[in-house]
Amino acid sequence: MDSAVFQPIQGMSDLAAPEISLWQRLEHAAREVMRLWGFTEVRTPLLEYTHLFTRSLGDTTDVVQKEMYTFADRGGRSLTLRPEGTASVIRHVAGLGAEGDDARLYYVGPMFRSERPQAGRKRQFHQLGVEAFGAPNPAADAEVIALQLRLFEAWGLSGHTLDLNTRGMPEDRAAVTQGLADAARPHLGALCEDCQRRFETNILRLLDCKKESCQQIVANFPPTTQFMGEASRKYLDDVLRLLGKLGINAKVNPRLVRGLDYYVHTVWEIRHGALGAQDALAGGGRYQVALGDKTFQGVGFAIGLERAIMAVQQDNPALAAAAPQTGAWLVALGDIAREANLQLAKQFRCAGIACGMELGARSMKAQMRAANRSGAKWVVIRGDNELAAGTAALKNLADGAQQDVPLADLEARLKS
Ligand code: AMP
Repeated sequence: MDSAVFQPIQGMSDLAAPEISLWQRLEHAAREVMRLWGFTEVRTPLLEYTHLFTRSLGDTTDVVQKEMYTFADRGGRSLTLRPEGTASVIRHVAGLGAEGDDARLYYVGPMFRSERPQAGRKRQFHQLGVEAFGAPNPAADAEVIALQLRLFEAWGLSGHTLDLNTRGMPEDRAAVTQGLADAARPHLGALCEDCQRRFETNILRLLDCKKESCQQIVANFPPTTQFMGEASRKYLDDVLRLLGKLGINAKVNPRLVRGLDYYVHTVWEIRHGALGAQDALAGGGRYQVALGDKTFQGVGFAIGLERAIMAVQQDNPALAAAAPQTGAWLVALGDIAREANLQLAKQFRCAGIACGMELGARSMKAQMRAANRSGAKWVVIRGDNELAAGTAALKNLADGAQQDVPLADLEARLKS
């Protein structure tokens, strides 16, 4: 048989046991943090009309130009698998009317980008993100950054750093573009091909080019705050001051821009030492997006969950290793005991005790092997004698100790 049948699409993976249990634990912890901070979940479709992304993310951005999975549906409409979560959440909030003006929402789920797969970079990956809607307010930005750091704390992460910068207000954009163009023009010939294109289309992206030769050139550019108005600089100072009050130390990185057009004021990125070359664990920022006749303002972030898992495996091995113990494995000697065990298994499961059993006739040895494989802590063994006596042999798989226990006491013993 063609072995490709067994492979998922390149850059995409199945998530299953045993790793899936760590995913579930991270999500569970995150949902509790979200509840405490007053955010509720939104689940939007994975497919959207393409124009939602081209309009909100900006059509000169890398995501829109190079990375979207876009295709025509049977009716000829252009659809795109979501490359990020914010645009869909804004579309959702647009439908809520005035109620959406101060919505606080979070999402967890897959995103799709047709990038070159490599370590830490997938074509289907997962993000956990939040969006807090409302007019620009440094307190809102500081609160959302604090929430993000609280999540990392809840996951036991320690090896991360926070870089922060401002994109300024839309009114600053012309002056920033002009200032950067003046600084870059003398070096145009020495910039990489991508940056020469960016010089015309999206000059801010010169600042975060990954090429060493470009980085050396932009290191000497003046910080963009120099071209911004007083209001934008004060906004950044206020965010930093409020973060300080919340005990958060942010490093201002004047080269940090983040890729998308919709950002205004605060942008930030979290890096983690466990991640190698793709060391961005999460990004965030304040945005302003016009959809229809309304402008949506908010602040949010997205955490890459594949990378969060890698970071937890390094920083918090105890959490990464903890696999929940299955309670009991029921072993039957004979058909009658097997049917009786089917009833007992249901009774245990309804009482909150995880358990398993072989559903077909198997030897005692085969059943014990299955018990060991299952990770169960206890084995409950019953044959004709036990059924007649109303007991079961209870064996502790860790130390091998075994004793007869009255049926009525079993539940309590298994829960102990
Ligand atoms: P972005 O909005 O592009 O900054 O993405 C936010 C976070 O999602 C990043 O910091 C990464 O942790 C994660 N991420 C983005 N693209 C990928 C990818 N192709 N594969 C895995 N994780 C990704």
